Amino acid sequence: MMKYIKQGKSDTELKEADAKVKEIVSGIIKNIEANGDVAVRELSEKFDKWAPESFRLTEAQIAEIVSAVPEQTVNDIKFAQAQIKNFATKQRASIQDIEYETLPGVFLGHKNIPVNSAGCYIPGGRYPMVASAHMSILTAKVAGVKRVIACTPPINGKVPAATICAMHLAGADEIYLLGGVQAVCAMAIGTETIQPVDIIVGPGNAYVAEAKKQLYGRVGIDLFAGPTEVLVIADETSDAEIVATDLLGQAEHGPTSPACLITTSEQLANETLVEIEKQLLVLPTADIAGVAWRDNGSVIVVADEKEAVEVADKLAYEHVEVLTKDPNYFLHNMTNYGALFLGPETNVAYGDKVIGTNHTLPTNKAARYTGGLWVGKFLKNCTYQRCTPEAGAFIGGYCMRLCEIEGFMGHREQAALRVRRYGKKEEVE
Ligand code: NAD
Repeated sequence: MMKYIKQGKSDTELKEADAKVKEIVSGIIKNIEANGDVAVRELSEKFDKWAPESFRLTEAQIAEIVSAVPEQTVNDIKFAQAQIKNFATKQRASIQDIEYETLPGVFLGHKNIPVNSAGCYIPGGRYPMVASAHMSILTAKVAGVKRVIACTPPINGKVPAATICAMHLAGADEIYLLGGVQAVCAMAIGTETIQPVDIIVGPGNAYVAEAKKQLYGRVGIDLFAGPTEVLVIADETSDAEIVATDLLGQAEHGPTSPACLITTSEQLANETLVEIEKQLLVLPTADIAGVAWRDNGSVIVVADEKEAVEVADKLAYEHVEVLTKDPNYFLHNMTNYGALFLGPETNVAYGDKVIGTNHTLPTNKAARYTGGLWVGKFLKNCTYQRCTPEAGAFIGGYCMRLCEIEGFMGHREQAALRVRRYGKKEEVE
């Protein structure tokens, strides 16, 4: 039976925080609906101390910002983008348009059509999230989206140069220095100066994630990708230093980021708790990671691998690192996760920054019903059909009777007309 050695905030406490965020976000959306660019500017000034004449960067501004980025940084960004583009291209190739003759003369098919425009939110309130530019913009471009626009906030009133560089290199068609709910809402519904898009993608803090949720329907969204989460699954063969490092490595994202250890070894659990305290004394971001660990960290001891899978699937975390002697057991048996990291040789930071899989992943248990961002999220799977005259008449007979069961007489007439016309059956009424 599983037991908690350490437990984070209760569901009730988390729900209270969620309710506050919901209220703030709906107020901001109403304000932008009513006041457009004026509201956007006021909100940006309030939250980010940023109120330029235009939020959109001109080509000359982008060139100037990019030219000041150190060469090594540009090369590293290009390396990461090559990895992400490579994997996204392979994934795109795995999505096929199909057409089959399902009955004699009946042809059914589907096409995967890219949305015409996408708005990418690149977070940057606390850290400049350079990698999110590759994950959203590049993936949209590989999917074939024609107009890809992107927003990122200034950090304490300063331009995040490396992020702008990554947005530009990834191929963004329009770049806006704008953050938070105001950016998501402006891209979703449009303002006097920002043309709306068909889908909003990308991660962000609780406000950004909630804005996407509230705007869904008026605009498409990729998934619910809020404050990051990490789950480490370990056993008696795992190294407590690696476990602790990888838990704190994600906890530093923000004070609300949950980090959880599930282990079959109580000894490893205790060693990890000691190691975390040791590392917090020297970690430069301990002020954030320490709060996240204290408030939202948990350690669960389970009886065996089977129970580890059951508990992990219930938690449905965004990132799951498996550091046990047989990581493949979890690959074959787990069903709810955003991304899996198998074995100690890789880790969440590789996935977040460079290895090539997408880092925009489901949080808050959304992994029960969706995977992360990928080319498929920018494609609409649209079906089509055609029939030979004989097949049209043949299907019509079935369709007429099925329509009658439902009382849809107009539908029935559509079918009856085809039977008369193509089946040459004058008597069909
Ligand atoms: P952010 O860009 O998401 O948010 C910054 C914006 O939040 C600001 O521009 C501001 O307008 C708004 N804001 C701040 N306080 C506010 C308030 N009180 N009311 C209304 N709006 C407010 O940057 P961040 O805050 O650093 O957060 C980035 C988040 O992205 C982290 O939580 C991180 O874990 C998450 N993330 C998630 C994934 C994923 O795939 N799930 C990936 C990367 C990052």
